[in-house]
Amino acid sequence: MSEVSPNSPTNYPGHSAQIRTTDVLVVGGGITGKACALGLAQIGLQTIEIAPDLGQNVESPQGAQWGQRIYAFSPSTQKLLAHLQIWDALDHSRLQAVRDMRIYGDRGEKNDQLHLSAFEAGTPQLAWIGESNLIEHTLDQASRFQNKLERISDAVNCIEADADGVTAHLANGSAIRAKLLVAADGANSPIRTELGITATEESYSQSAVVANWTCTYPHLETAFQWFLPGGDIVAMLPLPDKQVSMVWSTSSENAAQLLQLNQDQWADQFSTIANGAIIKQLGDLTLNSVPAAFPLRKIRAQRFIGPEASPKVVLIGDAAHVMHPLAGQGLNLGLRDVAVLLHILGKRESFRSPSDLVLLRRYERQRQGDTSALLWVTDKLKKLFSASSNTERQLRNWGLGLVNKSHFIKQRLIERALGEVDFD
Ligand SMILES: Cc1cc2nc3c(=O)[nH]c(=O)nc-3n(C[C@H](O)[C@H](O)[C@H](O)COP(=O)(O)OP(=O)(O)OC[C@H]3O[C@@H](n4cnc5c(N)ncnc54)[C@H](O)[C@@H]3O)c2cc1C
Repeated sequence: MSEVSPNSPTNYPGHSAQIRTTDVLVVGGGITGKACALGLAQIGLQTIEIAPDLGQNVESPQGAQWGQRIYAFSPSTQKLLAHLQIWDALDHSRLQAVRDMRIYGDRGEKNDQLHLSAFEAGTPQLAWIGESNLIEHTLDQASRFQNKLERISDAVNCIEADADGVTAHLANGSAIRAKLLVAADGANSPIRTELGITATEESYSQSAVVANWTCTYPHLETAFQWFLPGGDIVAMLPLPDKQVSMVWSTSSENAAQLLQLNQDQWADQFSTIANGAIIKQLGDLTLNSVPAAFPLRKIRAQRFIGPEASPKVVLIGDAAHVMHPLAGQGLNLGLRDVAVLLHILGKRESFRSPSDLVLLRRYERQRQGDTSALLWVTDKLKKLFSASSNTERQLRNWGLGLVNKSHFIKQRLIERALGEVDFD
């Protein structure tokens, strides 16, 4: 297989300016873009990554102040990061393993709850909780030492795809020609729009308010989630040092009000919601970060490859799918896109280009099922717990208790939450 050097300029028909060429161009500097670019370079493909935010130095998080963006990382994400040689390089004192998950219904009755346990499932942990910056910083460090990867801090203005590849025109006026373009350019993906890939989009009319708290009782390595009457959902995810990270999904109006609360007003909120169950569980909570709010929506691209006539672009991460954070799975799903793409491209026959249609179709097929299933489950759960009729209220709470009694269903739920990736 002949790979093209990223630094060799070439004249491309129809363009007077010289255009640089590369095997793969990754557009996007979020965690999925960074992980994908690093992984592609590691399998020997000349890779260029472009995003406006790549110029920012993501500092290694330190000290008692924890980052604003906290994620639940599933075992599939751990496996990908280990494969990329990132996992062992992380500062593990800033990662909290989750051994139990406790989910409570909105009637406040004792039996309306679901308990998932790593011990019962025969796995060391169900997930880890950690900061976005922790992963991003380590990915940045590893990328600096990867000589097949070049990173450019700029935006892609537009692309042109043809039968042989893709040309991306950058905001700085230059252009890059690649055999394959990976669009990791987020929920509003300009590349998805430019390719005319339709996406179904639905606003939840909710925002998630996130904040970190120090609690007086131990969190017992447990992730808690309370469904509240009216459709709000409060998750408290454990962090090291008796801290928890809150994700409170609520109406956009209430989110705006929550952002204005001072410490005493927050204490009043916690004493009333879920009949005070949050403070009964975690004790007094002291605010340890500046709260922030993120609007919530569901997006699913109809296709994960394009353009239709001759695909040379794959969508990964939020560019392909966005979901409600109630299951803490959006990024994990995006990193499974990365794992599958790396597996397919890493195992390709030597005569196949990275944008060979057979490979891209394989990628799309493999990602459809996982994506549809997770989007469906999170969407249905969200809607079931927002519904206000008595029947639905009884059904959802009864359902939680029923699932809790079934070892078989719980095991399947855990298997789905753990996720599967394969590099062999
Ligand atoms: C409140 C909340 C809590 C969440 N919690 C979890 C969780 O616990 N676990 C989990 O797995 N997921 C979680 N998620 C989901 C997760 O945040 C997203 O799925 C993830 O951040 C998406 O990453 P990404 O790299 O695909 O996109 P982004 O992080 O949005 O990155 C997009 C990148 O594309 C770049 N870009 C855009 N346009 C251009 C252009 N024209 N040219 C070049 N670059 C461009 C941007 O600059 C950026 O670098 C949560 C989401 C929310 C809202």
